[in-house]
Amino acid sequence: MYSQEEPMSEFAEVSQLYLDETVRLHGLGYYSSHPCCAVCEQVVGEEAPAGSGRRRLFRCKDCGVFLQCFECCLARHSSSPLHFLEEWTDGHWRHTTLQSIGLVYQLGHEGFKCKFPDALVRSLTVVHPNGIHEIKYRFCQCRRSDTCNNLQQLHRNGWFPATKTDPDTAVSTQALDLYRLLNVVGNLNARDFITSLERLTDATNSTGMNWLPDTYKAFLRVSRQSSFLQRARRSARAHDPNGLKATKGGELTPRCWPCPHTDRNLAPGWREVDKEYRYLYRLIVALDANFKLKNRIRKNEHDDPSLGPGWGAFVEPRRYKKHLRKYVAEKDISTCIAFAALTQKETRNTAGLRVSGVGGCVCARHECVRPNGMGDLQKGERYANMDYILVSALGDVDLKEYTVSYDIACQWKKHFEARMEKLPKALQRDFSDVLVQCGLPVWHALAHEEECTNENNLSLLPGVGKSDGEGIERLWAILNGIAFQTKEMSLGNRADTMEDKLDSHNFLKNLGQGDALRRRLVVAIAERARQVEAFKEINKTIKPEKRAEWQAQIDRYLEDRSRPNPYLMAVPLDGPSEADIRVKLRMEEQADAANGQAPLHATSATAFLTAGLQLEETQYVSAGIAAKTQLTADRQSKVEEHRIAFFAKLRPFRGLQEVYTPGAIRMLAKDAEARAAAATDTTVPAPAAENIHLWLPSELPAGERTDGCKGNLVEMEARLRESQCTDSLSAIRLALHSKRHLINFRHGNIGGQMRMTRSHSLVDQLGIRVDALANKYRQAREALLVLRGQGYAPHLRKLEKADLRLEGEEGENDTEADRSDRSAARKLRGIGGRPVREVGKSTVLSWIWTAKGALDSEEEELHESLRIEWSRAKARKKRWEEEVELLREEMRRVIRYLEWEVETWGARAAAATARADIMEDARSGLRGYALAQVALHRKLSDHFRGEWSMNINEATTQLTTDVVNFDTLFTTST
Ligand SMILES: [Zn+2]
Ligand SMILES: [Zn+2]
Ligand SMILES: [Zn+2]
Ligand SMILES: [Zn+2]
Ligand SMILES: [Zn+2]
Repeated sequence: MYSQEEPMSEFAEVSQLYLDETVRLHGLGYYSSHPCCAVCEQVVGEEAPAGSGRRRLFRCKDCGVFLQCFECCLARHSSSPLHFLEEWTDGHWRHTTLQSIGLVYQLGHEGFKCKFPDALVRSLTVVHPNGIHEIKYRFCQCRRSDTCNNLQQLHRNGWFPATKTDPDTAVSTQALDLYRLLNVVGNLNARDFITSLERLTDATNSTGMNWLPDTYKAFLRVSRQSSFLQRARRSARAHDPNGLKATKGGELTPRCWPCPHTDRNLAPGWREVDKEYRYLYRLIVALDANFKLKNRIRKNEHDDPSLGPGWGAFVEPRRYKKHLRKYVAEKDISTCIAFAALTQKETRNTAGLRVSGVGGCVCARHECVRPNGMGDLQKGERYANMDYILVSALGDVDLKEYTVSYDIACQWKKHFEARMEKLPKALQRDFSDVLVQCGLPVWHALAHEEECTNENNLSLLPGVGKSDGEGIERLWAILNGIAFQTKEMSLGNRADTMEDKLDSHNFLKNLGQGDALRRRLVVAIAERARQVEAFKEINKTIKPEKRAEWQAQIDRYLEDRSRPNPYLMAVPLDGPSEADIRVKLRMEEQADAANGQAPLHATSATAFLTAGLQLEETQYVSAGIAAKTQLTADRQSKVEEHRIAFFAKLRPFRGLQEVYTPGAIRMLAKDAEARAAAATDTTVPAPAAENIHLWLPSELPAGERTDGCKGNLVEMEARLRESQCTDSLSAIRLALHSKRHLINFRHGNIGGQMRMTRSHSLVDQLGIRVDALANKYRQAREALLVLRGQGYAPHLRKLEKADLRLEGEEGENDTEADRSDRSAARKLRGIGGRPVREVGKSTVLSWIWTAKGALDSEEEELHESLRIEWSRAKARKKRWEEEVELLREEMRRVIRYLEWEVETWGARAAAATARADIMEDARSGLRGYALAQVALHRKLSDHFRGEWSMNINEATTQLTTDVVNFDTLFTTST
């Protein structure tokens, strides 16, 4: 036996033995000296009497390695025609077939005797998982055949015919099932599958020594048809007396179990629930485009529509195209300029393509594709396409609240309502009494401008819990696996191939919910506890009147988003902000354009620079997360997502650099050369997102800065950098104000319940933020001095660590002992010890407190900063509270959905039994299928309940009680 550690080195001990044994199978083995048939136990081979049929010696690759005589072999295989044989010939095993030893298979009787078989013996090629067979068979013509035609005889034998009339090829059910899985799991295409089966049948097939019929085209057709029918079967289309043609849009795509579906998995009375609980019955979707899933124009292609167009994940193509044809090109002025420069909304290169990508809509929390939530894109990511897809994807659910996460939500949402009127009447929806909330996916939001992020980041929107909207990227990663094989396909084949992939994706997502929801809930309960503590920490330091005033400001904002944003600073800065400078630069550019100075590119120089600075900012965030020592698996995957998003944005930025800063392009080329020279070993990984050189003008060597930058980019960057310095300096002061306030409060209130949990407290979070801001200041200042010369702006001084340290604050490197000493000293104070000094600014005031504009508004600054900290801490707490409740509701919905399936399939079984319009054998099949579905869904429901009642820790135990009494929410809230 192998030990777990060294299986391969232990193999060395047995490799010779194994080698000998595998060769032994090529002989007669134990029976070498006296071969005999394992079935009739008679002597076989040369010693058997001539003409007895025992002279010939066989072995079956599918039955087992035992020996069989000719007669036993033929008799044994009358109902197993898809076995491959070997015959002992000239001292070795030679491949042979049942057909070549005379087997004629009897259809209609599963190989057993028919009283009146068809006189004609026919040939058929059958594709089966063990190879490609050419068999002989007869149709049945006895009474059994009265109720079925020849095609049905093939189907009833588990063989799917390739053509309607006189089929010469069929594919077995087993081969279809195997291929479908190899395709959806491993992206194996039909050509490779058939080639493998050909080689399995005859290793020398490619030489043409033996001739195997070409089954590829027939197989391709059949596998598409059979997968389509499988999807139809599972959606109960066979059980509808009105038949396939009555299929409704999107019906064949598996629904997401934890998402809300009206009339399937919502508790009765959900419509009447209090406003504050409505978010529990909200559908949260994510919308995005993928430009890897292209399709080329092919010449002389015959029309090849998808099977059941519009019945699955893709929208019905005819109506969709009709809508797009009448649509005029859209002109959209983006106000979020950094983002506009980083997006590839319009793909430039669509030559030779009839499909430039795919637009998709998934549920954001579980990443299931929505029925009718996919559509082809022709010319980039146009609203005309995306609106149509989104509204189709909402499908038949009728809820009171929806959230749409979209990485261009800030622009897209502006005229959505007006554009709705351009959609076909059947798709239009009345949202007047419904909440439609739009947000930016949490990581993607980083590429937007600060004001935009503060308004639209999903993490600040009420009711979404911790949904991050990034899940659709994971779906794209899965679909990209078939980007290559679908690129040259006919449109119909492509759509059907993608339907299969999406179908399997949704199926797996649903099955995974038992584990996924449980894990997420355990995390959410723990995190909620931490955020509640952090909020308490700041809340108790604020006077009740202030709290009420601030809460009112939040409420007003949530009611009406045009009100002042409570998560933003309302204090004027000491100098123009980055946003101010951006506006100024843009106006100057427009003035230049009006004076006849043609812009270099449709994306302005200001937008280009802003985009670069935003990318730089996302690099800090990446580095910040990656640097945390303990990377949990979850955070690790977040870092990965973040990096992918970064590279997606980097590409268009590089494109703009070619126009604006050719010097940067030259530096990139040098970088690449240096890497190639240094790394003879090509396995050296490319640098991570946070270590990439962006090559903004300030990063370029002096020569490239003067020659390699167009226009007055250098001057423009300098102005932006200066404003970055001022912005980050005020933000640092604000964060320090709050921190000081919290520490003082803590010191003044040591009544013995002083908490020493450091790592999660708000004070520590503020410390981390100050460090990040300090890094931003240092980088901006360094760039500014490079651009303007070392003597420039003496008031923007070098920022030292000591400048950020509040007096009396515990240092980072304090040992545990130091801290407990201090803590003991504080306790002493209560019984007459030396009073602890107030934490203040350093005794020698750091320059940041005396810098221009800083002292004038200190009181106001403190207030503002506390208000924002308090508002944000409250929002964070609220999101985690929502997350816990959402997860519990989702678990209840999964169970309800499965119960709905059990009930519905049970009803279908009963309805099938009662049908008088069909024969008993058809009824039996419908009933059998339905009852198998009942059993499956009941088993899943039991399994999930079990999984959610596992006693992993207190949190999970608590959740079990909730799942069992699941409608407590209504009894307590009404
Ligand atoms: Zn025998
Ligand atoms: Zn066999
Ligand atoms: Zn018969
Ligand atoms: Zn879902
Ligand atoms: Zn934006």
